[in-house]
Amino acid sequence: MQQRIIIIGGGAAGFFAAISCVEQNSEAEIVILEKSTKVLQKVKVSGGGRCNVTHACFEPKELTTFYPRGSKELLGPFHQFMTGDTMQWFEDRGVPLKIEADNRVFPQSNSSQSIIDVLTEEVQKNNIEIKLAHRVEDIQKDNERWKIITNNEEYIADKLLIASGSNTKIWNIISNLGHTIIPPVPSLFTFKINDVRIKEIPGISVPNASVSIVNSPFESSGPLLITHWGISGPAVLKLSAFGARFLAEKNYQYNVKVNWLSKKVSTVVNKLKILKKENPKKLIILKSVFKDIPKRLWENLVLVSEIKQDQRWSDLSNKQLENLSNQLTNTIFNANGKTTFKEEFVTAGGIELKEINFKRFESKIHKNLFFAGEVLNIDAVTGGFNFQNAWTGGYIAGKAMSSPQPLSKGEGLKSN
Ligand SMILES: Cc1cc2nc3c(=O)[nH]c(=O)nc-3n(C[C@H](O)[C@H](O)[C@H](O)COP(=O)(O)OP(=O)(O)OC[C@H]3O[C@@H](n4cnc5c(N)ncnc54)[C@H](O)[C@@H]3O)c2cc1C
Repeated sequence: MQQRIIIIGGGAAGFFAAISCVEQNSEAEIVILEKSTKVLQKVKVSGGGRCNVTHACFEPKELTTFYPRGSKELLGPFHQFMTGDTMQWFEDRGVPLKIEADNRVFPQSNSSQSIIDVLTEEVQKNNIEIKLAHRVEDIQKDNERWKIITNNEEYIADKLLIASGSNTKIWNIISNLGHTIIPPVPSLFTFKINDVRIKEIPGISVPNASVSIVNSPFESSGPLLITHWGISGPAVLKLSAFGARFLAEKNYQYNVKVNWLSKKVSTVVNKLKILKKENPKKLIILKSVFKDIPKRLWENLVLVSEIKQDQRWSDLSNKQLENLSNQLTNTIFNANGKTTFKEEFVTAGGIELKEINFKRFESKIHKNLFFAGEVLNIDAVTGGFNFQNAWTGGYIAGKAMSSPQPLSKGEGLKSN
């Protein structure tokens, strides 16, 4: 007598759940159904091919602040399986990791293949079956069990984990089972801006800007990068994640306020007044007077402040000084759309979190139905947090599914 566990989705969450389950109960019969011909495809391309597996933040409460959706719900799960557990898991299985200066964690090999190899080895070692090119087309309740209909075969499972990532078709199926789906919108994108102040200077960055969406509660700070299409960098990506739904509702027509120095306007006014006194003969445009403002950005901000190219500090009028202080601390850009951040992109939306028991990652509506990873309405900013959600959810769901429940071997699989 053994129980059959079916996992839909051969991604990070599905693999981790399968391994976690079999490690608790070696008798469990586990099958992963994957619609495409390859597993772990997102892991492969993640982190620019290096796979940013997790983040070196080891305090659960602090870790939750990186999740615009799911922060409250993940606190308990992080007490069960944290970033440090992820690191130990991979290192114990022969994948040395490294923490980079910005706390992102990567395999020392700098290759996502190391992560794929170890997950694949664990799955093979534990006789977990993988059915490639098995696209799940429907899920039905079959008394206490689950009937899973694929384009190939039908399966009966005692326990079912859905780890299908962001996938509209599966969300429709899950909705038919009575779960609420929060409509998906993109998260983690850069802001499209066509503005003379940043037009000719792609590649220029500032180390600590404050960025906010005008008439909204959303703001963030950190490095900001000027691109060919607008603005990007950690401060902007974080803002896009927290403001994802608000910006979608605005159809990506919004105003962004940038404080290039993250300083109060009064502080900047005072500094400019001192400079005016100290450098009366010097040309204003010649040199950026703030170490964090690169020369070409300084030139643009000076010119839009209606200061002439050949103007000296002594000739700076009060109005011009005020203009320049405002440009440095309160630049308003009219943003018109978004562009994808290719390093890591995720979707905000998915299964309503109120309908999940996060002690087990199990449905509160149906017994023996589990969810993990991006299929849930959970997503994070960039930095390894999205995978951590997949590892934590996969680990806990796998463990929860591992408690034995009888089903005769071979009884579950029905061929068409
Ligand atoms: C380019 C890119 C780079 C990224 N880099 C990082 C990074 O460095 N660090 C980080 O933390 N996050 C990163 N992310 C986000 C991260 O990849 C995801 O959060 C994570 O993969 C989610 O794991 P998952 O298992 O929930 O879903 P997925 O990895 O999407 O896996 C779901 C699986 O289910 C399968 N599936 C879907 N529908 C069906 C069906 N009907 N039947 C059968 N199978 C189905 C899919 O084919 C897929 O294999 C990146 C994302 C992208 C797109």
